[in-house]
Formats: sequence, C-alpha cells, structure tokens
Amino acid sequence: MGARTGERFLRELAAQRRDVWIGGEQVSANVTEHPAFRGIARSLGGLYDLQHEAPPVMYASPSSGEQVGFSFLQPRTPADLELRRAGMLRWARSSCGMLGRSPDYLNSSVMALAAASPFFATADPRFARNIEAYYEHCRERDLCLTHTLITPQSNRAAGPSAQADPYVAARIVKETDNGVIIRGARMLATLGPVSDEIMVFPSTVLKATAEDAPYSFAIALPSDTPGLRYICRETFDLGRSVFDHPFGARFEEMDAVVVFDDVEVPWERVFLMGHPEHCNRVMNETGAVAHMTYQVVCKNVAKAEFFVGLSTLICDAIGIDGFQHVQEKVAEIILALESMKAFLRAAEADAAVDQWGLLRPAWNPLNAARNLFPRLYPRLAEIVQQLGASGLMALPAAADFAGPRRADLDRYLQGRAASAEDRVRLFRLAWDAAVSSFGSRQVLYERFFFGDPVRMAGALFQSYDRAALAARVQEFLARED
Ligand SMILES: Cc1cc2nc3c(=O)[nH]c(=O)nc-3n(C[C@H](O)[C@H](O)[C@H](O)COP(=O)(O)OP(=O)(O)OC[C@H]3O[C@@H](n4cnc5c(N)ncnc54)[C@H](O)[C@@H]3O)c2cc1C
Repeated sequence: MGARTGERFLRELAAQRRDVWIGGEQVSANVTEHPAFRGIARSLGGLYDLQHEAPPVMYASPSSGEQVGFSFLQPRTPADLELRRAGMLRWARSSCGMLGRSPDYLNSSVMALAAASPFFATADPRFARNIEAYYEHCRERDLCLTHTLITPQSNRAAGPSAQADPYVAARIVKETDNGVIIRGARMLATLGPVSDEIMVFPSTVLKATAEDAPYSFAIALPSDTPGLRYICRETFDLGRSVFDHPFGARFEEMDAVVVFDDVEVPWERVFLMGHPEHCNRVMNETGAVAHMTYQVVCKNVAKAEFFVGLSTLICDAIGIDGFQHVQEKVAEIILALESMKAFLRAAEADAAVDQWGLLRPAWNPLNAARNLFPRLYPRLAEIVQQLGASGLMALPAAADFAGPRRADLDRYLQGRAASAEDRVRLFRLAWDAAVSSFGSRQVLYERFFFGDPVRMAGALFQSYDRAALAARVQEFLARED
C-alpha cells in the first residue's frame, strides 16, 4: 500500500467506526465529518499529501519495495537522518509547529522499538516478533497512531496498585487463549478520536514497582477495538473560518480519556506484559525516546521560527519595532529558536550507532532541549501577549468585514503598513497562538506532554554524567599554586 495520500487517509478513517464521546453524545457518524474532528482530519490528510511533494520524503520499503513515509525509516547513515529531519521539518512547518502529534512522533517510536526487538526477546521471544510485525504493519499502511502512558490522576500519592479502586488505572484482568483482557482507564490520548490505532505503553519517567505488574504492559490496538472508548474534552474548533480561528479551525488535535471496558488484546499485539522492570527501561534502552525527542526538537524549531515571524509582523504592523524593550523581547524568541536549532544540530553531529544498529541522535542535547522548551514556550506566548496588547482583543470577525460597519473597521483598525483586514487577520493568528483556548492548550501541552517537568529534571539530574566535572572542581580545590 505504501505512503498514504490525504484522500486515502480520510477514506480509511471514515471506514472505521470507533467509540468516541463528546459533549455527552456518542459520535455516530464518521469522525471525518463531525464538526469537532473535520478540521484536524483534513490537516492530517494534508500532511500525508506533503510526503509526496517534491522532493518526496519517502523511501523504498525493505519488505514491499513500495515508497513508504520518511518517519518509518530506520536511520543507519547521516543521509537517513537527513531525510527524517527534512520530512519532520516539512510537516512541522506546515502547521507552524502547532500539531504536536503529527504521525511522525509515534512512527519514530515504533521504528526504534522494532529495531530493538532483542530487548523485547529478553522478556519473551514472542514479544520481539510482535513488535517487528507491528512496525511493518504500521509502515506498510502508513498508519496514524495515538498513545497513552499515564494513569488517571486519582491519587498521585499512591501508585496504580495502591489506589482505592484497583480498576481506575487500566490493568490486566485475565489471560485468555486469544490474548489478555484489560479493564480501567488511561488519562489522555491526544489525537485519539482520529487515530487509526492506539499504543498503550509505559511512561518514560514514571517507574513501576513489582506490585504494579498487572498495570505494566505495552500493547497496541486498532482504535475501533470493541470496548475501547475515547471520551473527549470540549473542542476548540468552533466551526469558524480560518480567518477567525486560524489554528483552532485546522489543528485542534483533541485530547481524550481512554477507557478500556474489558478490551481483549490479541497476543500478537502484546509487546510486554507483567514485566515492570522491562517497562521501566523500554523507552530509554530501545532508543525510542531519543528518536521521538528528535521529532519534538524539529517541531520546536518550527514553532520557534513561527514565533520569530509572528512577532516581526506584529512589530511591523503597529510600528513598535523601534522600542528597545520590544527588540529585547523579539531577541528572546530568537534565542529560543537558535537554541533549538543548535540542539538539533548537536544531536545529529554527535549521533552514534547504538546497540541495535541504528544511528541514534545524541541524547544529551535532545534531553537538554526537552527540558528547556517547556520553560521557554510559555514565555514565547507571554511575549506575543505583551507585544500585541489590546490588539489581541480588538478583533472583529470575518463576518464584520463582510457587514455594514466595514468602513469603520477599515479606518480604525488599519495598521502602520497594513490594511485593517490584514492587520486583524494577523492579530487573530497571534490571539490563536497565545490567548485563545487553542493557544492556552499549547502552553499546557508544551509544559507537560513529554512528562512532568519536575520529574524530567530529576531524571536529567540522575542520569547526567557529572562525575568528571566534580573531579575537576576537586582538583582545583586541591591546588595550592
Ligand atoms: C495537552 C496535553 C496532551 C497530552 N497528551 C498525552 C498523550 O497523548 N498521551 C499521554 O500518554 N499523555 C498525554 N499527556 C499527559 C502527560 O504525559 C502528563 O501531563 C504528564 O506526564 C504529567 O502527568 P499528569 O498530567 O498526570 O500530572 P501529575 O503527575 O498528576 O502531576 C500534577 C502535579 O503534581 C506534581 N507531582 C505529582 N506526582 C509527583 C511526584 N511523584 N513527585 C513530584 N511531583 C509530583 C507534578 O509535578 C505536577 O505539578 C498530555 C498532557 C497534556 C497537558
């Protein structure tokens, strides 16, 4: 089948009926026509089309020989990494970095997990075969995946096995001839309602104990599996035009609680089960987290580029570029951009072939980037608020420009070098980036999507090789010259 086009993605998504709830109602029609999901479904379709645009970001599948998507490529050479980066940047730039869960994020995970199949074999040889087959399944169909890692936020003072209700967090209930039965919930799956399949995996930072064995597993399921349910938050796509809601109308990824109502997972979709120790190590040891972070840093570059461009246009539009504090603020955004570009470059320059034979981008710069961007991003949104000021509220809609008061708008909302309509179009974009529900979610997303920043910093503290640096300081202390 090979790399998808947008048309094929939409057709295949429409053919699959999944159990999605929003606003107290079940989505009975196909999701691609539902007002909450129509925009994002089309935007995802647009990404698939972009793979085919010249120069195409695809490669020949080792099994079928067909052209398949860049993000499935298992990188073994610098040229492979370059193709991956080119595809990732192309996708991320097309959404100004606002689509965190473009399919390359999880494709990167699956491709790395499969390369590390011997890791799974140390738990059970079947698991190794399963992860390899799953990678091929996703690659050949160019699937769009979601994932869910975190248990529900009932009582964070206790682990999943010590909750008052042992079935709050999704857990294994029993094994059958065909597979395992899972009951309970996971906290969140971004893109869930429009994904083809869901990966239910261990977190990269939350460590399981021996008692958590029934909650420790790695599986994947089609989104239309019986008993699997997505319960969505309210949508930020209000069905408005792209003039009114430039991001909300296009890139509303949706976040959903995932319920497993005695879901049967076939054995061939079980990659780890009842091995808390393996679950604790899987994302780091396989390299999956490094390849996912590489995608994240590409997205960060595109997002920071967008903020440099946006702030520049705001300055031009209302003539604030000459003020020193404005220049300082735009410079702060440039620092964020150049930092992300430097991290990306360093990760590539220091990439090394890992124990699974893949060229893995260097972890230290990636880890630094994933710890830093959650701190930088809220500031980028804040700077847009500081520069835009009341312009982020004086925002008539497309209907106002089409209505009888247009002359008022043309006169009173004109910019220094922009018509009123162009200035409002720009400021509506700034509002959707930094003020609207969509923009606020982006801030929350960047703060948390990769894990609790506090515990990510703890992981950095614990894993970073500081011994040589401490020894150097000791040496200096011992000097008497
Ligand atoms: C927009 C958005 C989209 C997301 N999409 C996905 C997705 O698609 N798939 C997915 O799996 N996850 C997703 N997540 C979830 C994300 O992984 C979590 O937000 C993150 O891991 C933090 O977990 P939590 O939200 O449960 O916060 P909690 O762990 O409940 O933390 C809440 C607060 O308590 C503190 N805290 C809790 N426990 C401890 C502790 N042991 N030590 C110190 N401090 C503690 C935290 O620092 C934080 O301040 C998404 C999150 C957001 C916001």
